[in-house]
Amino acid sequence: MEIQKNPLEIVEWTLQVTNQHNEWRLRKTINLIASENVMSPLAMSVYLSDFEHRYAEGKPFKRYYEGTQYIDLLEDAANSYFAKLVNATYADTRPVSGTISNAAIFKALAQPGDKALIAPVQAGAHVSHTRFGTLGALGIEQVDMPYDEQAMNVDTDKAIKMVEEIEPKFIVLGGSVYLFPHPVKEIAEAAKTVGAKLVYDAAHVLGLIIGKAWRNPLEHGADVLTASTHKTFPGPQGGAYAVTDDKSLYKKIYKNLFPNFVSNHHLHRIPALLVTMAEMEAFGEAYAQRIVENARRLAESLAARGFKVVGEHLGYTKSHQVLVDVRRQGGGYRAAKMLLEANIIVNKNLLPYDPPDAIKDPSGLRIGVQEVTRFGMGPSEMDVIAEFFEKVLIRGIPVDRVANEVSEFRAQYIDIHYAFKPDDVSVKYIGPLSLIR
Ligand SMILES: *Cc1c(COP(=O)(O)O)cnc(C)c1O
Repeated sequence: MEIQKNPLEIVEWTLQVTNQHNEWRLRKTINLIASENVMSPLAMSVYLSDFEHRYAEGKPFKRYYEGTQYIDLLEDAANSYFAKLVNATYADTRPVSGTISNAAIFKALAQPGDKALIAPVQAGAHVSHTRFGTLGALGIEQVDMPYDEQAMNVDTDKAIKMVEEIEPKFIVLGGSVYLFPHPVKEIAEAAKTVGAKLVYDAAHVLGLIIGKAWRNPLEHGADVLTASTHKTFPGPQGGAYAVTDDKSLYKKIYKNLFPNFVSNHHLHRIPALLVTMAEMEAFGEAYAQRIVENARRLAESLAARGFKVVGEHLGYTKSHQVLVDVRRQGGGYRAAKMLLEANIIVNKNLLPYDPPDAIKDPSGLRIGVQEVTRFGMGPSEMDVIAEFFEKVLIRGIPVDRVANEVSEFRAQYIDIHYAFKPDDVSVKYIGPLSLIR
C-alpha cells in the first residue's frame, strides 16, 4: 500500500477503519467463524490497562523485573484458577496463543528427530500439530493416526496398535474441525504402556469442557491440556496449558515457554482472562449446554431446508461446530463469498473426504455457533439463520436484500449473555485513559 496521507490523516483514517470494523462485526453481521468469540463488557474494559505496557519475566513473586507486584497477584491467581476450572493441579496462562502453548509443550516432550503421533487432518488436526507448522519447526516427526470414515473419528483400534509399534514421545488429540470427541481414554491407556505423554489440544472446546458439555480430557487420562482462550472460551486472545499432578512435566514446559517462546507475555490479557474465568464458573454450564443445543438445531434446520449436513448418521454434532457440504451450491469458496455478501461470516473448509489439495475450493463450510449463542440466540434463531442460508444458497434471493434482513435481525442481539454486568459489581474500573493526558 502506498501511504499518501500525512500523519494526522493516518491517525484519522485508522480510527475510521476501526470504527467501521467494530460496527460491522458487532451490529451488522452474523459471525459463525468457529474459532472466534467476544469478551464480556467487563472483560473488555479491563483488557485496557497499564499492564499492556509492562514486562514481567520470570515467575510471579520471583521476577527478573521490578514493579511487578500487581501482575504477580493476578497471574498467580489466573494460573490457580485455570487449573481449578479444568480440574488440573498446575496451569500456566503465559502463552500468548494456543500455538505458542503447543510449541512449549512439544519442545518439552521431544527432541528433533523424535516421533509424535497426531490425530489425522480428517479428524481435525490443527496446522501446529503438523510438519507444516510448529511440529515441523521443532524438527519433530509427524505420524498420523488412522482415520475411521464411518465414525468420523480417529480409528481407535488401529491407533492403539500404532502407538505400540511407533512408541512416539507424545500423542496429540483434539482439533480444529471436529464434531465428535476423540477417544481420549483408549489412547491414554495405550500411551501409558509405551511411556508416551498424551497432549489434548482443547483450543476449540475449552469453553465446552469448563461448561461440562464436553468430556474433560484430563479426567480421561490426558497428561496435558493446551488451549486458546478465545474460541468457545470467550476470553482475550491468548493461550494456556494445564498439567495433571506431574510437577516435573509442568516445570519442564514452564521453563520452555520462557525463554524459548515468550519474553513479554502480553500481561494485559491476564485481568480479562480472570474476569472471563469467573464468568465461565458462574454461567459456563448454561452457556456450553446452549451452544451444543444450538449447533445441533442449526444442523437439523439446514438439513430440513435441503442442505447436505455432514455427520447425519451420527446426529450431526456434539460440539459447537456444524459442517455443511456445499458442492451442490457451487463449492466452499463460492458459498462462503455469497454468504459474506449477505453479512454472514463463515469459512470454507476441507471436509474429511476432500483431498488435501482442495484447500482453495473445498467442499465444505465450517460453522460455529458459540458467538451467536453468546449474544443470546437460541434454537428459534438457529432456524432464522438456516433460512438465511437457504435464501442465499438455494433460493437465489439477491444477496443485497438478504444482507439488509441479516443486519436488521442481527441488530436485535447486542446484549452479551452468560456474563456479569458492570452494574453487578461494586467496584468501578477506572482504566488508564483517565490517568494520562
Ligand atoms: C486455533 C487452534 C490452535 C491455535 O490457537 P492460536 O491461539 O490461534 O494460536 C491450536 N490448536 C487448535 C486445535 C486450534 O484449533
